[in-house]
Amino acid sequence: RTIQVELGERSYPIFIGSGLLSQIGDRCVEAGFPVRSPLLVVTDSEVAPRYLPALEENLRSKGYTVASHVIPAGEASKSLQVYEEVMTTAISAGLDRSSAVLAMGGGVVGDLAGFVAATYMRGIGFLQLPTTILAHDSSVGGKVAVNHPLAKNMIGAFYQPSLVLYDLDTLATLPARQISSGLAEVVKHGLILDKEFACWCREHAGELLALDAEALGYALERGCAIKADVVGNDEREQGQRAILNLGHTIGHAIEAVGGYGVFLHGEAIAIGMAGSALLAAKLGRDTAIYEDTVSMLSALGLPTRLPAEYGEDELIEAMMHDKKFKEGKMTFIVPDAIGAVSIVGNVEESLVREVIAQLKKEGS
Ligand code: NAD
Ligand code: ZN
Repeated sequence: RTIQVELGERSYPIFIGSGLLSQIGDRCVEAGFPVRSPLLVVTDSEVAPRYLPALEENLRSKGYTVASHVIPAGEASKSLQVYEEVMTTAISAGLDRSSAVLAMGGGVVGDLAGFVAATYMRGIGFLQLPTTILAHDSSVGGKVAVNHPLAKNMIGAFYQPSLVLYDLDTLATLPARQISSGLAEVVKHGLILDKEFACWCREHAGELLALDAEALGYALERGCAIKADVVGNDEREQGQRAILNLGHTIGHAIEAVGGYGVFLHGEAIAIGMAGSALLAAKLGRDTAIYEDTVSMLSALGLPTRLPAEYGEDELIEAMMHDKKFKEGKMTFIVPDAIGAVSIVGNVEESLVREVIAQLKKEGS
């Protein structure tokens, strides 16, 4: 399966399928990276022992010089400190303007390595090799970043990869919680633009959670295609791309207040999507949207309720640091129905507080 992200001269393909990592060397040659320029593979401590040796060997068999940098697994590695360490490896390995950074891992590796690629010598080649379900989202669209202690993804760039090579075989080793977390972004793509797909995810939740190859291949292709379409129409988030942030205003606040990693990213945005549906009801939309949203998320093993210890003041405070908060007014992505959303500005803080309070009571 191949999907094309249409961005003029920055267009690129997403290859999705089984056994694709064994084609990486050929893909680098095809993409025009010269063998005389070193490549840098960035990956993490969970992915490296499983998939790094074969990847390095494949690249070397095509004549490339390969350096690798293994970061500790987890969100804490999306930091300026780790960024600097990867830069040190890149400089020491002698990467030049024709070199490329290969990000093999989940969204943490992709976001961090992408920011390295975007800024090393003002930008060198970049390839995304996602190994989590969540990374079907993060590897497409060109948003790369590291976190600041005060705010997530605050230091970053728009930097598109030359290609995305998504080898579904790597997903077999994902822990169950990571599978559900990734499926949150998959169903999000349905919730914003494709009701049929969102309902399909609920119906096939069992197969998706069991990593059934057929179901998963379809879901990831559809998720990537929806994302590619939105990004193709609004690369730098001047307008419509913001709909991809459904559930993220509340979700990011949950991650910031709870501490990164307490709730996984997909879990936090699942609670956020339930919150957006509650907000929708407060703004006059059908309350059935909330029931449906919760049933879809629950089917995929995701939380929809906020633990009582999350303080409203702290969450609101965290939202104010969020990039989606402008001039004292909160902007939310609000569902109009399953498969359709609006960008609603000027949301009153009191309504958001009501939603947070309700999230602690409602749901599973
Ligand atoms: P992650 O990269 O931390 O991966 C999750 C965990 O799974 C890690 O412990 C990792 O080591 C492990 N892992 C990865 N692949 C594995 C495999 N094949 N087998 C076994 N274990 C494996 O997190 P994630 O959920 O992939 O991504 C979350 C990050 O993505 C967040 O930082 C989020 O902000 C970012 N994100 C970015 C975008 C974007 O557009 N750039 C979009 C969504 C999310
Ligand atoms: Zn996300």
